[in-house]
Amino acid sequence: MKTHAAIAFSADADFQIREVDLAGPGPGEVRVKMQACGICRSDISALEGKETIEFPVVLGHEGAGLVDAVGEGVLSVKVGDPVVLSWSPACGLCPGCQRGEHQLCEQINMTTGSIGPLSLEGQSLDRFMGLGAFSEHVVVPEAMAVPVQTSMDPRHSCLIGCGVTTGFGAAVNTAAIRWGESVVVFGCGGVGLSAIQGARVAGAARIIAVDPIQERRQAALKVGASIALDVAGAVKQIIGVTGGGADVAIECVGKTSTMLDAFNTLRPGGRSIVVGLPAYTDKIELPVIMLLREKSIKGSIYGSAKPHLDFQKIASLGETAQIDFEPLVDKTRHFSEINEGFAEMREGKLTRVVLTF
Ligand SMILES: [Zn+2]
Ligand SMILES: [Zn+2]
Repeated sequence: MKTHAAIAFSADADFQIREVDLAGPGPGEVRVKMQACGICRSDISALEGKETIEFPVVLGHEGAGLVDAVGEGVLSVKVGDPVVLSWSPACGLCPGCQRGEHQLCEQINMTTGSIGPLSLEGQSLDRFMGLGAFSEHVVVPEAMAVPVQTSMDPRHSCLIGCGVTTGFGAAVNTAAIRWGESVVVFGCGGVGLSAIQGARVAGAARIIAVDPIQERRQAALKVGASIALDVAGAVKQIIGVTGGGADVAIECVGKTSTMLDAFNTLRPGGRSIVVGLPAYTDKIELPVIMLLREKSIKGSIYGSAKPHLDFQKIASLGETAQIDFEPLVDKTRHFSEINEGFAEMREGKLTRVVLTF
């Protein structure tokens, strides 16, 4: 079929919305008519060279839509079903999937290169994270179109496909926060605000947010942080407030200095979780002796989530207002305004611009 996709031909050129060819759905594939797609920080990181992509590329990996057609053998969804796109193919066969760790599926790929259903005048288009959701339609393997029955607006439910699951899951799954614990969240963008809400839902007693931008600190207080601090002097203040260090620290910035701050705010036995995306070459230096105080540092990808279980549960928490999605989206724009949306996200003040179709 013909559809329209926003194509990036190079890192610094504007997106061009062009009519493209979309093949399929073949056996085991699903075609989704997109309703909404968030502009995630990783889309910007991809253009900046922090992720592997090939130009020309269609970005977008935080999408929700309706099933429009199904290929042979597809059983989990039917035409008309609402779905949230997952960037884990959850192949079921690799060691990660067999351990039930779908976030570690070996088939997760930042780039599909020349393999895929999308092309422009005969030239194959790369689809970021196997999705390429800045497009009116996508064709994906069945496992990447996760059925989510919800009354939520798609401009909210689309965030379950990346930012909300990444942050919320880091708190409830990776850190496995227990009730009454003290939790610090570094970085209060979409992922950080979701981590704060995960801590709140898990029953954390004291949630401390750290961010240099005042608007973001205010948003953090709105979604459940008890204190919001500027970066300067934060570590010392946190150790004071918690009476010796936090139980859990979640880093959602992607900077080595904040990763160290997160580790340094912990009490003996505390756990720090790295969620923010660093550069490939970044390294951190830790006082190793601290590991003998049972302090730990662990990474988290996709909120250690099982999309087919967790997406629906997160949507239920959204419907019952236990996760507040409203502060996570500060602007909605039509798909045709993708360049304006990227410019606003690059300024750094907005949590999320969501594109609607
Ligand atoms: Zn797998
Ligand atoms: Zn993302």
